[in-house]
Amino acid sequence: MTYSTLLFDLDFTLFDSDVSEDQAFRYALADVDVPWSTQIVEVYAEINGGLWKAVERGELTPLDVRTTRFEMLFDQLSIDADPVAAADAYVYGMGAFGDLYPDARGMLEDVGTGRAMGLVTNGIGEVQRARIDRLDLERHFAAIVISGEEGVAKPGAEIFDRTFARLGHPERTSVLMIGDSLSSDMAGGIAYGIDTCWFNRDGRAPASDLPISHTVTALNQIPAVLTDPRR
Ligand SMILES: [Mg+2]
Repeated sequence: MTYSTLLFDLDFTLFDSDVSEDQAFRYALADVDVPWSTQIVEVYAEINGGLWKAVERGELTPLDVRTTRFEMLFDQLSIDADPVAAADAYVYGMGAFGDLYPDARGMLEDVGTGRAMGLVTNGIGEVQRARIDRLDLERHFAAIVISGEEGVAKPGAEIFDRTFARLGHPERTSVLMIGDSLSSDMAGGIAYGIDTCWFNRDGRAPASDLPISHTVTALNQIPAVLTDPRR
């Protein structure tokens, strides 16, 4: 018995979003003539993280986050700059910069043989589409479901409903959700009744309240999870 359908998260799971975000942020600030500093990065990270948590709670859409984060950033630091121009440059940069983790492509090729795969990502449509096109990810996935295009996000059930529909309604017991986020990927998969694989790259403490099925600390450990004899 093995999983016949795999659902992957994109950011921080397959894609090195740290590099992408850092380069895009520098690009966006330069575009509106605001100097880069560690302080502005820290304030931005806090604002951005809080807004994405609100998306997970269903209070905001990804499109709301796009400009609001720069409005809040410039407000909070009393910077006189155009948040819309910064947001546009940032979104462009997020799509244009960054790459898959070095071992992601080989792993996708390996586990994708004989399995259906879906990409389920909380993000802005234009950002994720630019990355997917540039990195030629479409060939790996039978379904690509982006919260910003759908108006629904992980961990909610509806984004999984849509993914399952596009994959031809696989049996839930045959599906594995793989991702780095406890609050969206793991909580969402568990609530939907599918097995989960937590990509804990940074060695974070596990969440004791979440019955996660598998944990890996590197992408090259995923093939072994799929053929786990305990299944
Ligand atoms: Mg992620």
